[in-house]
Amino acid sequence: MHEITSLSLFVGTGTCNAKCAHCAGLPLRKFAPKKDGEVNEALILETLRNCYGMGARSLSLSSSGEPTLSPRSVTRVLKLVRSLKPEGIVFPKINLYTNGIRIGTSADFCRRYLRLWKTLGLTTIYVTIHHVDEKLNTRVFGIRKYAPLNVIVSRIKRAGFSVRANLILNKEVIGTFNEFRRILDRLKDMGVDFIAAWSLRDKNDNPTKLPPAKELSTMRQWVKYDPQVRFLEEIDHVKAYNSKLTLFQDGTLSNTWCN
Ligand code: SF4
Repeated sequence: MHEITSLSLFVGTGTCNAKCAHCAGLPLRKFAPKKDGEVNEALILETLRNCYGMGARSLSLSSSGEPTLSPRSVTRVLKLVRSLKPEGIVFPKINLYTNGIRIGTSADFCRRYLRLWKTLGLTTIYVTIHHVDEKLNTRVFGIRKYAPLNVIVSRIKRAGFSVRANLILNKEVIGTFNEFRRILDRLKDMGVDFIAAWSLRDKNDNPTKLPPAKELSTMRQWVKYDPQVRFLEEIDHVKAYNSKLTLFQDGTLSNTWCN
């Protein structure tokens, strides 16, 4: 088998506090455990060891729902990763995917878990967003109210993490290069460390609602030499199939889910 660079683990119950019309996690929720804190310890340890041996040094915690709603599971998995240190297995980069909703609405949650996860080795929080405007995030996430993004970013930074904004390109909210550029400037002003932008994907993992090709091309050119921004296109998605693996909760280890 060829070398891989990163491993993603699905964790938690699959519950989500958003109702995105495009959610690709929905069909996978039937495999998620019913209770927060339930994890397949033996399978996760075996996968971590094998993938580390194949070259993986970056680890992501993801979910078919929202991982911050399963904080016990996240904590348990981070402890499992840490338990491998005496074997020389250390993932220097551990990322947590989130929609940011719980971080933005519960200071208690942040106090209780973010600092704990920092001590357990989590390094970066990836916040998936559709815009910097909370009204637009509220609309696409299908919720009552999305918190101001600067509150979410500052809570994450205060806990000592790097923040990457995963900006989803959807022509219904970001249709032009000018809008894209304005959003990048705002994210950087807020203190976001990195930005990764890619197109919205449908339930079958195909790009959908793409901004016009000319606008996408200008966006791509604009960020080409910006070390803070990654602009991921279809070709990068396909390339990732060769270097990233994801462990789903039915036990499948697959290269078809590109976190
Ligand atoms: S936030 Fe993610 S998991 Fe939750 S509904 Fe939206 S796409 Fe699905």
